Amino acid sequence: INQALTKALPVLRMLEQHGHEAVFVGGCVRDTIMGKVLKDVDIATSAAPDQVEAAFPRTIPTGLQHGTVTVIHESEHYEVTTFRTESAYEAHRRPAQVQFVADLEADLMRRDFTINAMAMRADGSIVDPFGGRQDLQRRVLRCVGDANLRFQEDALRMVRAVRFAAEFQMHIAPQTWKALRRYSHLLVHIAMERIGAESDKMIGGSNPSRALAWFAAAGLLAYTKTPLPPALVRQAEQFRMDPAADKGKLKGLAALTSLEERWAAFCIALGLSMDDAYELFDAFRFSTSRIGQLKAAVNVHQQMTAFTSSLQSAESPIHDGLLSSEHEQMLHRAWILAVLDNGKAAAACWLHAAAALTCSSLNLDKLAVWLNELAVSSVRELAIGGADLLRLLHKPSGPWLGKLLNELVRDVAIGVLTNDRDSLLDAAGSRLPE
Ligand code: ATP
Ligand code: MG
Repeated sequence: INQALTKALPVLRMLEQHGHEAVFVGGCVRDTIMGKVLKDVDIATSAAPDQVEAAFPRTIPTGLQHGTVTVIHESEHYEVTTFRTESAYEAHRRPAQVQFVADLEADLMRRDFTINAMAMRADGSIVDPFGGRQDLQRRVLRCVGDANLRFQEDALRMVRAVRFAAEFQMHIAPQTWKALRRYSHLLVHIAMERIGAESDKMIGGSNPSRALAWFAAAGLLAYTKTPLPPALVRQAEQFRMDPAADKGKLKGLAALTSLEERWAAFCIALGLSMDDAYELFDAFRFSTSRIGQLKAAVNVHQQMTAFTSSLQSAESPIHDGLLSSEHEQMLHRAWILAVLDNGKAAAACWLHAAAALTCSSLNLDKLAVWLNELAVSSVRELAIGGADLLRLLHKPSGPWLGKLLNELVRDVAIGVLTNDRDSLLDAAGSRLPE
């Protein structure tokens, strides 16, 4: 068996030595059968949470009321969850309360899909009461039990269905699909951050465009508690009408290894504005810093696109010859301004996204070189500070100071000024408006 599972085996054995049943469960079993690299290894056990805590020296009480204890073994974290059922679903959401049970099969029965409802014992044998292995082999995504009930219990499962179908190129079983179409409106009960977390996995997965096409085809887009940006919904609807439409636009995403670059590329490919991007990521309850970075990357795109179209519309009579170096200077300036406005990280993110999408007519290699050569990107990196200017100019501090410093940053970045004390103080002295 798989290396990550081998590493986790002592955790199973330790629980067994204490007289409990313990198995690998869920995604790690599914991915092992498919021969994929594991993201994380989850363990289910008959031991109660306090018994799990008693069996290991290093544990974290991750979610005791749900029966989850994190066990740290050789610096790996394992979520160990007591066998449980979730009978009392409230308002189509995961229950606040769970019941611990003695038997593994009852635990597997509460899981969403047959491919996720398998367990593996320490000896490598598979426990598969719902035909998960066969469904994997035939590439069928199927709910455990009655799909109508399962989606009504927890409407997030419909999003997960779409995610797994896209990720593993599966068909959705007819009953499961029918139920999904019937209950898509229940998605409105689901907390947006859970949808955001699943969306992260869809965009980070092996086929983001297929995931979006499925999402639209399932009719889920219209039913999020916080509405998604209309521009996104419109685009996704086109995917649904034309199953090949996704192939072109989002194809490039798969080449990107960073999740944030993929999200940036996603927004750019679908033509979302910076405001649309904000609306989307805010709806998903991403962190403020994440939203800021992604918005900034989309803004770099907006600024560079505006520059490109301003060049194209400026029909100059002396368009060639001399002008190419002039063009280059204008491009350099526009790029540096975009970098300074949005930050280096956002600029680098956009460069990668644009390269993967091959959506820009600009010479991205050149922009990358300029980004690397950038002498300064913020006031902090200037060879002088605000205090120097105050001393030199004998003026009371005020808004002029920040403005002047920013101008100096820009001029150093563009290359018309060098970043040493004397040149900066000189420039500042001559530039200060009376
Ligand atoms: P991934 O590898 O993408 O993380 P996963 O199957 O491990 O996929 P998780 O969200 O990590 O997905 O959940 C772990 C397991 O918990 C699942 O395999 C499934 O058995 C169960 N599970 C998770 N969410 C639900 C749900 N909403 N309803 C029922 N079972 C669920
Ligand atoms: Mg997982």
